[in-house]
Amino acid sequence: QGSDTLLEVNNIEVIYNHVILVLKGVSLKVPKGGITSLLGGNGAGKTTTLKAISGLLRSERGEITKGSISYRGERLTGEDPAAQVKAGIIQVMEGRHCFEHLTVEENLLTGAYTRRDGRGATEADLQMVYDYFPRLKERRKSQAGYTSGGEQQMVAIGRALMSRPETILLDEPSMGLAPQLVEQIFGIVKRLNEEQGVTFLLAEQNTNVALRFAHYGYILESGRIVMDGPAAELRENPDVKEFYLGMS
Ligand code: ATP
Repeated sequence: QGSDTLLEVNNIEVIYNHVILVLKGVSLKVPKGGITSLLGGNGAGKTTTLKAISGLLRSERGEITKGSISYRGERLTGEDPAAQVKAGIIQVMEGRHCFEHLTVEENLLTGAYTRRDGRGATEADLQMVYDYFPRLKERRKSQAGYTSGGEQQMVAIGRALMSRPETILLDEPSMGLAPQLVEQIFGIVKRLNEEQGVTFLLAEQNTNVALRFAHYGYILESGRIVMDGPAAELRENPDVKEFYLGMS
């Protein structure tokens, strides 16, 4: 990975509730304009890594006890999610988390709350989100709680886009979705990356799809990075094939 590193996680250790050591020295680099994937099974520490970056650990009684995280060369404290959003990083949480009683469009508009550039810009971004997710335009007046899992994932990504992020931390976008929808969501992630220049760090258990769409991958096992490389190389690696792609 080149010198244009946007986000750098340097040997972090994370502990929950003062006792449970979950990340045991995780390091990774996210280049500007790339799609980087963080792979690994259930409980490997993917979500914890994303939360350490976005500042969402504290509300879970989690703490970074060692190492550091920097963004554009400046150190992030990891304690204040609003500061990270201001810096340009936003996390899309696993499980989607819509406001169920608001409409699809109201949900999207909540994503623009940190913006100070007026209604015109917000309106333009709403149109941009609808261009990428035509389905959301059709459903814009529907109560979010009554939309499908795939539509809620689209709402979650769309809402993140409304803050005009430079970097999106995307947690398990494939979770609970039919294969065809997973392809659709990843296809849109790829377009957002290529056309809007959004940088992605995405956590996925679905190694197969993640390595087809990402440029680079890190594999996490029990809180440690055990392997990393360009996605095309990882796809051909015998260990990755055997243990993560299920086709030895
Ligand atoms: P998943 O796909 O299940 O989310 P993951 O790779 O994202 O897996 P994490 O959610 O980061 O893994 O969890 C890593 C470990 O930390 C797990 O053993 C989990 O039980 C533990 N853990 C996660 N959140 C907390 C918490 N708030 N308090 C205590 N332990 C936690």
